[in-house]
Amino acid sequence: MIELKDISKIYKSKNGEITAVKNVNLSINKGEIFGIIGYSGAGKSTMIRLLNGLEKPSNGTVTVNGKQISSISGNELRNARQKISMIFQHFNLLWSRTVAENIAFPLEIAGVSKTERSKRVKELIDLVGLSGRENAYPSQLSGGQKQRVGIARALANNPEVLLCDEATSALDPETTDSILELLLDINKRLGLTIVLITHEMHVIRKICNRVAVMEAGQVVEQGDVLRVFQNP
Ligand code: ADP
Ligand code: ADP
Repeated sequence: MIELKDISKIYKSKNGEITAVKNVNLSINKGEIFGIIGYSGAGKSTMIRLLNGLEKPSNGTVTVNGKQISSISGNELRNARQKISMIFQHFNLLWSRTVAENIAFPLEIAGVSKTERSKRVKELIDLVGLSGRENAYPSQLSGGQKQRVGIARALANNPEVLLCDEATSALDPETTDSILELLLDINKRLGLTIVLITHEMHVIRKICNRVAVMEAGQVVEQGDVLRVFQNP
């Protein structure tokens, strides 16, 4: 489903070069929840940007769903990216739009008709458990509710992959658990492939099937969560 082959990413600046990701090989299966864990600066965000085509690798290839997204651009990349969706630590909602309008936004961009949009938005609102909050503004919602809007918006155009960028790091432990349970439920129900990056071990333990541990740009260990995190 997702294949990273010999990926390296070197950022060049006036002060020299930084190798953010070095010789990474990963394959992520369809329908699994795959975690990438590491401390700050380990290269996790760079990995996510490589996966959604926002960044090109200096070396190696990234293939998502049969498309080599590391070597396409323009419309072809835009089309491929419609199948790769994302949620964020700080939700990235539009603050002047209601819950329903935020969720409808990617549908509007995709040219979905008004009638279809309302139908789809209703389904999504039910899916993430926000019934009754359609007309609220983001500022009126709790952190967990904001992330539910982020998830609904991310699912609007039926993506094949959901990338989660520290999606629970701004939430308290209880809310974190409820969002992780929602992601697990969506993974089971829709068979959606989920890749998440985090610095928190309990997030990985709670929902991931497999994990890659990153340190200084390299994957130092990967495999089943139970094996990688077993106590010696
Ligand atoms: P993480 O998400 O694990 O904190 P990052 O991928 O953000 O790690 O960063 C990995 C390394 O690459 C860090 O040393 C960071 O400073 C550097 N880096 C990240 N993005 C850029 C960039 N756009 N330009 C230069 N260096 C960058
Ligand atoms: P939270 O506290 O819910 O995590 P933040 O205050 O960190 O949210 O905001 C997340 C993002 O939304 C930031 O980039 C911020 O600039 C933007 N933002 C926050 N409030 C508003 C607002 N009223 N109007 C426009 N953008 C906003």
